[in-house]
Amino acid sequence: MQAVVCHDFGEWSVTEVPEPTPEANDVLLSIERVQLSVTECNLYYGNEIAHYEAIRDRLQSGSARLFGHEFCGTVVETGASVDRFESGDRVYAPGKIPCHSCQQCRTGFELHCPDKTYIGYDIPGALAEYAAFPAEALCAVPDGVSDAETAAMQPLASAQLTVDEAPIDSGDVVAVVGTGVMGFQCAQLAMLRGAGDVIVVDVDPEKLAIAERHGLTAIHAAETDPVDAILDLTNGIGADVVFEAVGGEQNDSTGGSDPLAQAFAAARTGASVVQVGYIIGEVAFYPRQLRSKSIDWLNPVTGATAHTPNATTGEHVAKLVADGRVSIDEYVTHELDGLDNFEKAVEITMHKDQYGARGPAQLIL
Ligand SMILES: [Zn+2]
Repeated sequence: MQAVVCHDFGEWSVTEVPEPTPEANDVLLSIERVQLSVTECNLYYGNEIAHYEAIRDRLQSGSARLFGHEFCGTVVETGASVDRFESGDRVYAPGKIPCHSCQQCRTGFELHCPDKTYIGYDIPGALAEYAAFPAEALCAVPDGVSDAETAAMQPLASAQLTVDEAPIDSGDVVAVVGTGVMGFQCAQLAMLRGAGDVIVVDVDPEKLAIAERHGLTAIHAAETDPVDAILDLTNGIGADVVFEAVGGEQNDSTGGSDPLAQAFAAARTGASVVQVGYIIGEVAFYPRQLRSKSIDWLNPVTGATAHTPNATTGEHVAKLVADGRVSIDEYVTHELDGLDNFEKAVEITMHKDQYGARGPAQLIL
C-alpha cells in the first residue's frame, strides 16, 4: 500500500509499504480522509514545539511514518478480541492511548497517564491507504456525520473536554478570544452549556459572520477594542468566563493587545480565564493582576477519553455534530485528492490566512 514516509524535517515521499496486520485488540481501517493538525505541520518543518524531541529522535534513526492522528477510517477487519466495531463502521480517534499500567492509569486517571501512546508520533498514523489502531483509541460516528466532519472531529472532543472544565453557569456571559477551529467550537459548546451570551473576538469578517449565524455575538478586533466592547456588553462588569483561543507568540499577560492580555482584561472579578491556545515561548507575567481580580487561570487537561458512564467525550461530540447542535463543516474549506498532496496540505494548514482557509486542509484518499 501507499503511505507518506518522512525522511527528515521537510523531506518526505509517498512510498510503498507493507499493509498492516491487525493484532487481537486492533482494528484495520481503510483510510478515507486525513486532516492535518497545526502541531503536525510545525513538527514537519522542525519547529521546536511539543513532541519535537520525539520526532527528531525518530527521524535521526531513519525514515519514519509520522503524523495523521485526525482521520476518517472505515473498519475493514477487527482483531480476535474486538467486539465493539464491525466492518463498515466509520471511525475517528478522539484521544491518546493510555499505558494502563502506571499508577495514574491503575487508579482511574488515564487522562493523566505520563506514558500515553500518540497516534502519528509514537505509532504510524493515518497518512496511508490502511492503518491498524488499538480499538480502544477509536470511536464510531453515527450516520449523518460526513467523512469530512469525521476527519475534523478530534479537535471537537478536546474542545468538549475544555468546556467541561470551564465553570459556566446558566446565563453567564462567555467571551472567546479567537475564532479558529477550537475557539468556534468552544463558543458553540458554551452556548449548549447554558451561557446567556457568548461573545467571540476575531479579525476575520467571514468567521465572525459564521459566528453570528450561530447566535454568537461577534466583535471585530481590528475595528473595535474588544476589551471595551466586552465591558460595554456587560455593563462594565466583564465576562464571567473567557477562553483564550489564539495562542502562538505573545509578549505580555496583562499589558498591550495580546490575546491573553485581552482575556484577563475582559474578565470580571472572580472570573475564570480558560487557556485553549498553545502559547509559544515566554510571556511577561504579572501575578498581581490575577490576584487583585481573583481570576482563575485554567489549563484544562487534554486527551479526551472520560465523560460519563453513558458517553465518552468522543461519542458525545459525534452525536452533537450528527444532530446539528454543533457545526464543524464550515471550517473544512480545503480538500485535496491523494497522499501526493501531503506537502500542499501542510503548506495550506500552516498559512491559512494566505490560502483563505478557515481550518486545516484535508486529504481525500
Ligand atoms: Zn499510564
